[in-house]
Order: sequence, then structure tokens, then C-alpha cells
Amino acid sequence: MEKLMDALVKPIAGKGLELRRVPVPEPRTGEVLIKIRKTAICGTDVHIYNWDPWAQLHIKPPMTIGHEYVGEIAALGEGVTGLSVGQRVSGEGHLTCGRCRNCRTGNIQWCKDTNSVGVDRDGAFAEYLCIPATNVIAIADDLPEDVVAFFDAFGNATHASLMFDLVGEDVLITGAGPIGIISAGICRFAGARRIVITDVNDYRLDLAKRMGATAAVNIQRDDLRQVMHEQGLVEGFDVGLEMSGNGAAFDQMISVMRNGGKISLLGIANKPLQVNMNDIICRGLTLQGIYGRKMDNWHKMSSMVQGGLDLQPVITHRFRYTEFEKGFDAMNSGLSGKVILDWTK
Ligand code: NAD
Ligand code: ZN
Repeated sequence: MEKLMDALVKPIAGKGLELRRVPVPEPRTGEVLIKIRKTAICGTDVHIYNWDPWAQLHIKPPMTIGHEYVGEIAALGEGVTGLSVGQRVSGEGHLTCGRCRNCRTGNIQWCKDTNSVGVDRDGAFAEYLCIPATNVIAIADDLPEDVVAFFDAFGNATHASLMFDLVGEDVLITGAGPIGIISAGICRFAGARRIVITDVNDYRLDLAKRMGATAAVNIQRDDLRQVMHEQGLVEGFDVGLEMSGNGAAFDQMISVMRNGGKISLLGIANKPLQVNMNDIICRGLTLQGIYGRKMDNWHKMSSMVQGGLDLQPVITHRFRYTEFEKGFDAMNSGLSGKVILDWTK
């Protein structure tokens, strides 16, 4: 008889999710079945929950969503070696082709044919998840479980933050969402001098300060140039991390960068942005698009946490998976950092 499990499913094209009984997936050749222990809610899940235009374009119901998780291996498909049942794991959520030029040179973040867990195929908001063994990431026992639950998002933050040298540099982060908040912690850990973060949300700016931002700027109230002056910045920011997806934030960032400054672009805008190219050209700015994570980021994430980077302050809510509505309400309120859902029985 087919075994069933609980899963958070987008049942039909429309708002919300449904807790449903669905079949436990069977690991095929080269795949691994993971028993989920904790998951975290990502902004992408909120888009899917709210059924906004992005979700309407990308999600094909019915499907199980979710891609931030930690669990343990429940079963190995045929041919899987080097992993064992009971082992603690998370997973890289981008399933890449393995054949394109970027995949073959270790740059999976630029694969031409990416498939995403919880977006293009069934996801991790379930008692079990099946993924290829090549995407499984072994997790050391000394890493706190609730923090590993959002390593996927920590990976986006790590990818963007560590793209450019931070030692002794002054960093501007635009957008204090969970990824901006985590990035403030990474920049502090990695040796930045000043870390200024902007948002319109005081709750989130406070979390960023707790994570190590030197100044938190509510752009609706505070003057960024005045804050730069107080922080001893003379020529502008050396490194910019755009983490809002907001055009006005990007414009503001461009206006306060040092000539020759470097910018990681992570925030995804919901419409095309207008950019003054001459400003970027004449001031010699470097712009780097950031997508997903590098495989090497997973190693650095574990090492940073083991080396003392404390991400616990980013977690603001914890619920059992059956109370998922409360989790999505917290995310939608804006008064949240990371929200963890517990799947342990
Ligand atoms: P989020 O939506 O929770 O946070 C964005 C923050 O930007 C919000 O707190 C918002 O108040 C703030 N903001 C809005 N306008 C602003 C302005 N003018 N100035 C400063 N801040 C402003 O998102 P998140 O989950 O933290 O993710 C950050 C961004 O990265 C999002 O745009 C998300 O879609 C994107 N993202 C990209 C990737 C990737 O692979 N490139 C991966 C994950 C997330
Ligand atoms: Zn590829």
C-alpha cells in the first residue's frame, strides 16, 4: 500500500495553502529521501502563498512548496554512495543540468537550465522530500538545527556578501529583509568597517542592528548622507549589497558609492528598472548579479557558524507545521525575521 505523509500544498490557482495527505516520494536511482525536521519560510513561499503575479506565472498547482529545510536521510536510491541513512542533511535547492559550460566548471549558480525545489517540483514543506544525491549537503552535528533550517537563505546572503573583499571596507545594504539582516551579520563577521543598512521598517532595522549593523537608516525619516558623515565616510561606500528589489533603493545606492565601488545585486524587482548608465560608467562602478548560491558557499556557511557567527537573533517565530497560517501571517505582517516550522513528531 502507498505510504502517505502530511504536506503543505498549493492546491489550486489562488491564495493560501492546504495541509494535505500526499504520497511519500520514492527515491529513484541516484536520489535521496530526506525526513524533514525543520523548515523556514522564504519570501518566495510568501509570493506563492499570496498568489501574486510572480507566483501565477511560475507555479503549477497542485504542488508541495518550500525549499529551506534541515532533516535526516531516510532512504537511499540505487547507486547512491558516500551518504548514509540517519545522516543529518540539508540540500542545495537548485537542481542544475550538470552538462552546461557553467555546471562543468563548478559554477552551478549560472546553470542555463535550473530547476528549483518547491517552485518547479515538489518541495520541502512535507514530512519527506526527495532530491538528487548531488544536491544533498551533509550538516555537522554541532550546527544549531533552527539555523540550518534557513541555510538556503543564508546562502543567498553569503553569495552576495562575500562576492567582494569586505576587510576594512564600508558597506551599504539596501533592504533589511531576512537576507539583508543576515548579510549585516556576515559583513560584521568578515571584517567590514562600517555596515549601514536601509529600510522603511523599524522592526527589521532593529534586527539588523542586533546582527551587527553599525547604523540602521529608515529612509522615510533619516538622511543617509548625514548618517554617512556621522560614520566617518568621506568618499562613499566601497561595497553595496542591493537586497530590496526596489528601484529607489538602487538609485540611492548608486548615488552614494565611492568611485570604483562594487555592488552585488540580489534583490529582484517586480518590474524593469530605469538606470542612469552614465553614472555607473563614468564612476567606474562594478555591478555583479547574484543568483542562488555557489556550492562553496555551503562550506563557508557551516564554517562561519562554527567560527562564531550567531544567526539565532534572525529567528523571530517558531510554529508547528500545522500552524503554518500563523507563520505566513507573521511573514506578511513585515514584523518578522525568519519563521521556522517544526515537522518533528
Ligand atoms: P524581503 O522582501 O523580505 O526584504 C526586502 C526589504 O526591502 C523589505 O524589508 C522592504 O521593506 C525593504 N525595502 C523596500 N523598499 C526599500 C527602499 N526604498 N530602501 C530600502 N529598503 C527597502 O526580501 P528577502 O527575503 O530579504 O530577500 C531580499 C531580496 O532578494 C528580495 O527582492 C528577494 O526577491 C530577492 N532574492 C533574490 C535571490 C536571488 O537568487 N537573486 C534569492 C532570494 C531572494
Ligand atoms: Zn547547467
